[in-house]
Amino acid sequence: MSQKFNARIVCPYCHTPLAVADLEEATLDGCPCRICPQCATVLVSQVEEGAAMADTELAFHG
Ligand SMILES: [Zn+2]
Repeated sequence: MSQKFNARIVCPYCHTPLAVADLEEATLDGCPCRICPQCATVLVSQVEEGAAMADTELAFHG
């Protein structure tokens, strides 16, 4: 059950399954973001905050 909180994503560009910990960190326009190590596509920004907000939103939608 605890793995549910271990964020995993699939890169929409190269479809490589990635753990957030696998992503390369970078800074765009002063904002921290994560980059796919396979294709260098910027996937998400501010993973920690975004994940928390997404979880809250999902809870509201059931
Ligand atoms: Zn990729």
